[in-house]
Amino acid sequence: MLFYLDDLPVLFPYDRIYPEQYAYMADLKRTLDANGHCVLEMPSGTGKTFYGRNRKLIYCSRTVPEIEKALAELKRLMAYREEMGARDEGFRGMGLTSRRNLCLHPDVSREKKGKIVDARCRDLTSSFACEKGRAEPGSVELCSFHEELNNYEAGNLLPTGIWTLEDVKRYGRDKGVCPYFTIRRMLTHADVIIYSFHYLLDPKIADQVSKEMSKESIVVFDEAHNIDNVCLESLSIDLTRPMLDSAARSVTKLSEKIEEIKRTDASKLQDEYAKLVEGLQEANNAREREDDDVMANPVLSDDMIKEAVPGNIRKAEHFVAFLKRFVEYMKTRMRVLHVVAETPQSFLQHLKDITYIERRPLRFCAERLTSLVRTLELTNLDEYHALQKIASFATLVATYEKGKVSEQGPASVAADGYAPTGFLLILEPYETEHATVPNPIFHFVCLDPALAMSPVFERFSSVIITSGTISPLDMYPKILGFTPVVIESYPMTLTRNAFLPMVITRGSDQVAISSRFEVRNDPAVVRNFGSILIEMSKAVPDGLVAFFPSYLYMESIVAAWNDMGILNEVWKHKLIFVETPDAAETSIALDNYRKACNNGRGAVLLSVARGKVSEGIDFDHNYGRAVIMFGIPYQYTESRILKARLEFLRDHHRIKETDYLTFDAMRHAAQCVGRVLRGKTDWGLMVFADKRFARADKRAKLPRWINQYITEPHSNLSTDMAIHLSKLFIRSISQPFDHSQTGISLWTLEDIEERQRREKEQMDNELADAAEVGLIKKKDEGGASLQPIKDGGADGGFLAYDDDVDIMMEDEDEFASLGIDASELEGMELA
Ligand code: SF4
Repeated sequence: MLFYLDDLPVLFPYDRIYPEQYAYMADLKRTLDANGHCVLEMPSGTGKTFYGRNRKLIYCSRTVPEIEKALAELKRLMAYREEMGARDEGFRGMGLTSRRNLCLHPDVSREKKGKIVDARCRDLTSSFACEKGRAEPGSVELCSFHEELNNYEAGNLLPTGIWTLEDVKRYGRDKGVCPYFTIRRMLTHADVIIYSFHYLLDPKIADQVSKEMSKESIVVFDEAHNIDNVCLESLSIDLTRPMLDSAARSVTKLSEKIEEIKRTDASKLQDEYAKLVEGLQEANNAREREDDDVMANPVLSDDMIKEAVPGNIRKAEHFVAFLKRFVEYMKTRMRVLHVVAETPQSFLQHLKDITYIERRPLRFCAERLTSLVRTLELTNLDEYHALQKIASFATLVATYEKGKVSEQGPASVAADGYAPTGFLLILEPYETEHATVPNPIFHFVCLDPALAMSPVFERFSSVIITSGTISPLDMYPKILGFTPVVIESYPMTLTRNAFLPMVITRGSDQVAISSRFEVRNDPAVVRNFGSILIEMSKAVPDGLVAFFPSYLYMESIVAAWNDMGILNEVWKHKLIFVETPDAAETSIALDNYRKACNNGRGAVLLSVARGKVSEGIDFDHNYGRAVIMFGIPYQYTESRILKARLEFLRDHHRIKETDYLTFDAMRHAAQCVGRVLRGKTDWGLMVFADKRFARADKRAKLPRWINQYITEPHSNLSTDMAIHLSKLFIRSISQPFDHSQTGISLWTLEDIEERQRREKEQMDNELADAAEVGLIKKKDEGGASLQPIKDGGADGGFLAYDDDVDIMMEDEDEFASLGIDASELEGMELA
């Protein structure tokens, strides 16, 4: 259908639209018109994927299936536009994923691990390998798929159209070109790009892949409820003893290589030295060769590239000695047998006192290493992985020595005017509290997600953060450090209650149930959790998914259930599958779970919140007729990293520990239960089994579309009452149903026009009211003309005009006092 949002024509590829989709579009338009950012929450399966012509769209999704789904939707939309006669000549849409998913090389593509595929590919495609291989064919191995790309005109490697990942692979096979590099080189020419969050948020990758994207692009982070954690991970590094040993071996190898090259071709090192005097830009001019991402660097400001590299690490052998000293220092730090937590500043001071290593050369470490790797023309780059990590750590710790003062002003600012940095170093000598053999880990932890996010907000004018479970909405702007134009959570319109959320607070024996630490292993609680599972597996057809707060808790409960005979009881009704931390095992369990759901045997899947299943797997229709959340999935609060983060949130954003922990637990609980409903034709039960869910402060943190359906009587149930309600629900939902939900949860074009007519009417009435009270003048009473005034009028107020009424306002606030949003007045001109 074709309809208009103000003056913007919208081609929607379906005959009907969900009311929430319409509201979502209107808010998106508002955001884009204002060139601002927004946070929008809408249930999954209600169609959040969108595309706006004229501005490039960068759509970030989390998993490969989600990328494929978005591309398929885009394909459908563009086919519809073509059918409707819209002209989208030269349009290209494509998705990008890792080499592991796209590689066609017969040997490299067989590797299982992404890291190894990347390293092997870099060996075959680095600029020095290519130069040598082309000059002396056969001297080094090259990838023919990569070489073939040179026979195509740059910027025209892919014909126009929408390219799913499979399409590009097929195209690559036909033409003999590498799909991965085809997409990478075409990114700047694409109108829509769909890839994972990391390509924008991880500075190591963003610098290589997304550097050239135009500022006008619209950036969308879909399923963004975990975006803060992605940001933190992208700037955090863990170092271990074996890594330091491996780095030390790499340093030795580097010095051997340097000796060798001194004997064979000393001019190379001299050339490099000369270029480093000019600055990193000169030394790394290979960066301009777009495929040459020999080693990725964490942070590299433009000023830094232009700076000359510090003298003491300019010479290759000096740099290697420098690295050696640094690695040795880190090794001695690892010998400490008590926990240490320190700021980057104190770490650098200690480092300087012991080794005389200064901050400045440390900052250049990662880039200097990259330059050396190029000069020495190293291959087997995966062997240098640990050293690269240490170099990244050195660069990060030296770059983020001091934190920036946030715009809002943090709660505590140090005497030198700087806020405490958003980083902390934590050395944990033992893996667990009770371990006796040391196995130290040095965590370099980023505490402030805004650090990874701010370059995105600075570079792009419109960033849209959206998910089905992103409540409470005001939390994200705070922790990510931005001011949105629109924050909105949409309710779900349903003609019948397609899902039933229930809070079970006690068992049939009236014992309160909870996963609170003190009572979680109480046999009465465990037994009551078990009886919920037994009763639900009897009552619910096909698939049932149960989530636990952690693997550890799940294991202990399952063991106890086994002893109590609960599992045997469940088995009578359904098969039982369990998620494990091993991805391959879990995917086999999932396959069999689906088989059992399809063949009528029915199955229960036991999984954990924050696990793979809770984040990326949909349990639509018969694959999930009920989800049970056993307990509240709070994080393990004894973790030092979490404690540091909570402290940071309290000091910087005035967010209380309990508020953040509850927010985090509830977003994960919502993610888990949200798995059951993947569209409006789906139905299912959502069971929150913990008495704490009954509390208003917990429920307020659930998404609006779930919370609106938790009625008071359903928020404090015992197991038998819940089972009774479930049976009633299943019986009523199984009745024949008139699927035409038109007018209520589905709108036709007429419904949209009716809605727009009503909106206009309301606006007119409000303006007329304003005229009545004398705040605005009607035209026939000598009001201003219909022409917009440019100078704001004699009194310096502003003027807005409308078909029927002209308005002259003294003050914008007067609109507000009437409950009118001034920005919504058509054709308004602000003085
Ligand atoms: S260039 Fe492409 S095909 Fe060749 S190894 Fe790399 S990813 Fe594989």
